[in-house]
Amino acid sequence: MPPFGPPLAAEVPEGRVLLIGNSRSYANMLAAELRERLGLEVVTADSLAAAHDAMATGGTFFLALTGLVLPDAEPEQIIEALARKAVPMVVVTGVYDDSIRARMVNFPIIDYVLKEAPGTIEYLTWLVRRLERNRQITALVVDRSPGSRAHIAALLALYGFRVLQSADAAGALQVLDTDGAIRLVVLEHAVLDHAAQEQDDAGIDGIAFIQQVRLSHPRAMLSVIGVSSSADASQVARFLKNGGNDFLNKPFSREEFFCRISQNIDNLELIGTLQDLATRDYLTGLPNRRHFFELGYKALRGRNGPVAMAMLDVDHFKHVNDTYGHDAGDQALRAVATAIAVHARPQDVVARFGGEEFCLLVPGVSLAGAEVFFERLRESIASLQINVKHHTLRVTISIGVCHRSDGDLHALITEADRLLYLAKANGRNQVVCESQDTAAA
Ligand code: GH3
Ligand code: MG
Ligand code: MG
Repeated sequence: MPPFGPPLAAEVPEGRVLLIGNSRSYANMLAAELRERLGLEVVTADSLAAAHDAMATGGTFFLALTGLVLPDAEPEQIIEALARKAVPMVVVTGVYDDSIRARMVNFPIIDYVLKEAPGTIEYLTWLVRRLERNRQITALVVDRSPGSRAHIAALLALYGFRVLQSADAAGALQVLDTDGAIRLVVLEHAVLDHAAQEQDDAGIDGIAFIQQVRLSHPRAMLSVIGVSSSADASQVARFLKNGGNDFLNKPFSREEFFCRISQNIDNLELIGTLQDLATRDYLTGLPNRRHFFELGYKALRGRNGPVAMAMLDVDHFKHVNDTYGHDAGDQALRAVATAIAVHARPQDVVARFGGEEFCLLVPGVSLAGAEVFFERLRESIASLQINVKHHTLRVTISIGVCHRSDGDLHALITEADRLLYLAKANGRNQVVCESQDTAAA
């Protein structure tokens, strides 16, 4: 996507997942789940050699899910190969015990998941989504000790966060003021103790620090997690009462740290502030492409009956940009997005699929109903008068609509896309609608 607008969520490169394991059926099932539910690109490899190939030719992976039993490698070899390429990994295996964990302790492994345990697929889907979304989130580590600060920063980076560091409270406040993308602060409690005793350079004591953070960063927007090896119960309570979200005693295991961090970030998402950052398109406010897959999957799950899926593309939009400038183009895109969102019914799913392309999933509509529905949408967009600086713009859109009943989201999208190109080829500013149910034809 071109770099229009502020550097927000939409700017993080698309994520790809590498799935390594000797069981093809398991890999295919998991891959399908991740593709459908999260809209992620997944590459599978059934041997060390295939994994090497994928990493050599397949671009970057933000995550690998790997088994330990491969036909051509010892467990350590695949782990080493991923570590060398700095690909964070989750081990998904049927053979897992403390001795394996001990052997792997120095590798950048996020988690171990037992393949056959009930709920594993659900858990992995959550985990992958969490790690993928973390890439949109900035975390700040505040710790006087360079060693411990680097350790925590490295863990957070392993979980996908963009990580900033500060050695003291005053520096942290400054960073928080200037970087609006920070959603997580991990604070070594000694920073507060120390500051409370001696007053920080800038005269900030520990409690004043949290209170000051909270003036501009409410709990629902920023999670502040304390860590300490020396805090007693009353200090922990004081930390939490003054605005801390959570507290972790050191030493903590990697898994405990990851669980706590994830829970806190999940909470922010539930409250809604973060979700917007990760799932909304910054220009139009519509769900982004990736989020569309989640919403679409949810809308289709467990339902039978016909569904219409439309891909909509603004006609000759390059010309709008070339003639009136990108700002006017942006304004036109917002107007088109609003028109589509207004036209959609509450149960429909709208998204900005990319650039000047939108999509609209309309469940429970007949073929004839879909034709009318999208023809009206086409007309309403063609009649928009978009006021930009010194002009009034008009735009048209072409729409490809696929109508079918099997609930196959990917097929719906692929076919709608094909029909969209027919609409373009036929002269644009039109709807091409096609049923793919043999029964209905
Ligand atoms: P067609 O009728 O075949 O769809 O022609 P088109 O010009 O619309 O298609 P093309 O794919 O050649 O150009 C799409 C243009 O959309 C190119 C790109 O600069 C512009 N675009 C994509 N995203 C944005 C955006 O966020 N803002 C603005 N202003 N322009 C965008
Ligand atoms: Mg276009
Ligand atoms: Mg296009």
